[in-house]
Amino acid sequence: MELEDDRDAIVRFGLKMVKSGLTTGTGGNLSIIDRNSGTVAVSPSGIEYAALKPRDIVFTDMQGNIVKGDTKPSSELGFHLSLYNRRKDIQAVVHTHSPYAVTMACLGWEIPAVHYLVGFAGRKVPLAPYATFGTPKLAEIVAEYIEDYNALLLANHGLVAVGNSMDTAFAVAEEIEFVARIYYQAKNIGTPVILPDEEMDTVLEKFKTYGQKKMEG
Ligand code: 13P
Ligand code: ZN
Repeated sequence: MELEDDRDAIVRFGLKMVKSGLTTGTGGNLSIIDRNSGTVAVSPSGIEYAALKPRDIVFTDMQGNIVKGDTKPSSELGFHLSLYNRRKDIQAVVHTHSPYAVTMACLGWEIPAVHYLVGFAGRKVPLAPYATFGTPKLAEIVAEYIEDYNALLLANHGLVAVGNSMDTAFAVAEEIEFVARIYYQAKNIGTPVILPDEEMDTVLEKFKTYGQKKMEG
């Protein structure tokens, strides 16, 4: 039953990804892992988000073998799996082609701490070098460059966001697009002021108890 919920979530967040302008057409993809069974629910390749039905969401194992579903899984299943392998703390991956983040990725720029919300990713959003979409090389690069960041720019391609739930991974993708836009706008009319690492460390510490999260101790 829980696994079927993951299918519903991918349909819902796929639609949200298009509606909130984080991607266009069939660009981007999403997945959720069930760590108990090692089953990954992933969006299918090349189907418009508006047309997606829960049964179109494919289940695979950690090796990428299809466990359930009749559609072809996302061409980026490789990097979703390499992320789940590399980062045991994450349970969802969102890949977008969001325009401002992609602008930075096409310039070969990282996104620095121009606004404290970059903390959704870490002290900055790093940039991984270009590799062709859907290749083992890209899967390898993504796992290598993610380190402990929660977002990564893919040169000349897009953004990858990770989190311990689909809600969190999606929020990372949304907030990083906001920060990329602010960086773009600020650069257009002046020289943005970048927050120092020490301040970002303070922000990252405060994020641990932000909102309704319980204070520790
Ligand atoms: P899929 O439709 O195969 O998921 O590919 C979209 C994409 O963004 C490739 O990088
Ligand atoms: Zn892509």
